[in-house]
Amino acid sequence: MEAKKLKILIVDDDPDDALIAVRYIKKSLAGIGLSIDHAASLSEVNLFLEKGDYDLFIFDYYMGELNGLELMKHIRTGGITTPVILLTGQGDEAIAVAAMKRGASDYLAKETLSPTLLSKAIRHSLELYQSEQKRKETERILRESEERYALAVSGANDGIWDWNVLNNEIYFSPRWKSMLGYEEDEIGNRLAEWHTRIAPEEVQTLEDSMEAHMKGRLPCFECEHRMRHKDGKYRWMLSRGMAIRDSAGQTSRVAGSMTDITDRKNIEMTLRHGVLHDSLTGLANRKLFMDQLRRSTIRVKRHKNYQFAVLFIDLDRFKVINDSLGHLIGDQLLKEVAPRLEGCLREADTIARLGGDEFGIIVEDLDGAATASIIAARIQKVLCAPFMIGEREIVISASIGIKLGSKDNEKPEDLLRDSDNAMYRAKAQGRARHETFTQKMHQSAMASLEMESDLRKAMDRSEFRLVYQPIVSLISGQIEGCEVLIRWDHPERGLIPPDIFIPLAEETGLILPLSEWIFQTAGVQYKSWLDAGYSLSYINLNCCARQFLHQNLTKLVKKILTATHIPSHLFGIELTEGSAMQDITLSTSTLQELSQIGIKISIDDFGTGYSSLSYLRHFPIDTVKIDRSFVHEISGHQKNGRNRTAIVDAIIAMTHSLGLKVVAEGVETEEQLAFLQDRQCDAMQGYLFSRPVPPEDFLALLREGRCLSDVNPICSG
Ligand code: C2E
Ligand code: CA
Ligand code: CA
Repeated sequence: MEAKKLKILIVDDDPDDALIAVRYIKKSLAGIGLSIDHAASLSEVNLFLEKGDYDLFIFDYYMGELNGLELMKHIRTGGITTPVILLTGQGDEAIAVAAMKRGASDYLAKETLSPTLLSKAIRHSLELYQSEQKRKETERILRESEERYALAVSGANDGIWDWNVLNNEIYFSPRWKSMLGYEEDEIGNRLAEWHTRIAPEEVQTLEDSMEAHMKGRLPCFECEHRMRHKDGKYRWMLSRGMAIRDSAGQTSRVAGSMTDITDRKNIEMTLRHGVLHDSLTGLANRKLFMDQLRRSTIRVKRHKNYQFAVLFIDLDRFKVINDSLGHLIGDQLLKEVAPRLEGCLREADTIARLGGDEFGIIVEDLDGAATASIIAARIQKVLCAPFMIGEREIVISASIGIKLGSKDNEKPEDLLRDSDNAMYRAKAQGRARHETFTQKMHQSAMASLEMESDLRKAMDRSEFRLVYQPIVSLISGQIEGCEVLIRWDHPERGLIPPDIFIPLAEETGLILPLSEWIFQTAGVQYKSWLDAGYSLSYINLNCCARQFLHQNLTKLVKKILTATHIPSHLFGIELTEGSAMQDITLSTSTLQELSQIGIKISIDDFGTGYSSLSYLRHFPIDTVKIDRSFVHEISGHQKNGRNRTAIVDAIIAMTHSLGLKVVAEGVETEEQLAFLQDRQCDAMQGYLFSRPVPPEDFLALLREGRCLSDVNPICSG
């Protein structure tokens, strides 16, 4: 069955701008089925609208015949409620505000448009729209249930009261008394019998409303309040009454009824809760969060010493958990995260689930910026403790962005956006940390844009080069193969590590041409070594998720093999668990194709994902590479080293039991090497033997026949 496509209509009279928007949308929503139409005029818009429904509109504000606001009005009067994102110019704040007032769900400045911003705006708009639809539906149900309820009780269910204002005596009907659980003779005829049973918080409201009616300001007395039942619990009641006046206009009596509205109130409260809360975790939802944030921005302006902060929390690699363990486990995990977060906060603070694995917190009445960091650190600490979901232990971390509230008239949306930006920063800095938003981050967001454009040019300017790191057999001590790693020599910034630019290349799609170049260059290089007579049993190339899922990898590999005449069994691909688990069906078929032509497949960074070895059985895998974080902790005098070495031990044993080969990454010390040899690990890679080196240096290693005994005295002894 084909999944439903997301239908988007872009309205822009500038074809170039529209093209950019289309490109950005495709990039930001990669993996989602899309159907995008473009209209350049009002008549075209009308034509498209006749043909079908859309999920989202993106309107340019500056259009020839109608501006974006007028266009919005046009479609809204036509009864179309589809969410609209308005593209404005930079500094068009007034237009943006007017657009939001007229029901646009977001706005973006064209000048600063990027796939990331657009993807966020689209996601938020669709979520907002869905929750609005849900709220309307809830209100409809509420109205209906109220009417039904009114019908049901309009019989003989009400209690009657009749108060003589002059002598302060009051008559209660037997039904009035039994509604509160009393027999006829258990309640007297003093007004106090009523008042002492009203919930203390509601006495004032009831008295005010009675007085307003008696003085003629309200046509009748009506009040919803709670009454204490004989069983000690409160029931919700609706008391209504009318004053009876003498000829001088003085009230002599007030008589009326009391209706039990507990059921209706309960339904109402549950529904109201549902409108403002997240059904999975029971936390506040985005709407309630934004309302509270608006209140905080008002409070901070009114009170001199008041301070607050917004924390944006995003769980690291949650997608991997969801994809590998399933959505039920993912949901369960989110549910369990909620009380841990609540435990870190005070009563007055607000905590909400903003969507997916994103949580927002408003810390009220802060005594300084440092406190916000302390709270963020506390949250990170409590989230670190393992979660038990069913039989499974799951360990997670979170990245947190902090934005301090200020008196500069900031809008709630801006505060949230800045905290979100700070969170992104925390992720980019290596996850599991928190960052406070600074003006600098603005600049660095700009720098990242700059890097993106530099990255596009880098290929043409030949700024990339490849380095080769030997993989050494622990049985023979000889170099058996190598891993290819990329380097970017930026003309101004110097060497930029692949950890920084590979994700960016993935995000922008540049990874596809880039990896083609890597495969090609490495293939030619490797062939030259083989032709020169050196024995090197394989060459491993890294492959990231995007490339693995979106490029026709088998085709690319075949092309390189044909062009270079390298036998296919000498060619290897390294893939992380996370990449393989993103789409298991697709991964399985791609891996099978590759394996059928003889390509060797390694699972990279093993142990850092959430999958277990069990899935390895289903994939045609040859080698498992133990992540260097585990190898680093192999050390005799380390206190908690025991546990980690146990993990390395277990990985080696299990991998071998599946008949696979195991390679340890990041081996830096002789101690680590000795441990791995002792545990019969098959091969190693790491600075101890050699760093990744340029091709000429790698050739030198091959030429001199460098082996482990040259670096490791234990081995030679
Ligand atoms: P990776 O695939 O896990 O690569 C191994 C990383 O460990 C390399 O970092 C390597 O220089 C480093 N390393 C090797 N031995 C040691 C050691 O003894 N100690 C320490 N501390 N590190 C060691 P590098 O080159 O910075 O690459 C980082 C990551 O960037 C790679 O992790 C890989 O995920 C990605 N990457 C690098 N080149 C490519 C490429 O050509 N294509 C793709 N798709 N990704 C690449
Ligand atoms: Ca690798
Ligand atoms: Ca690795």
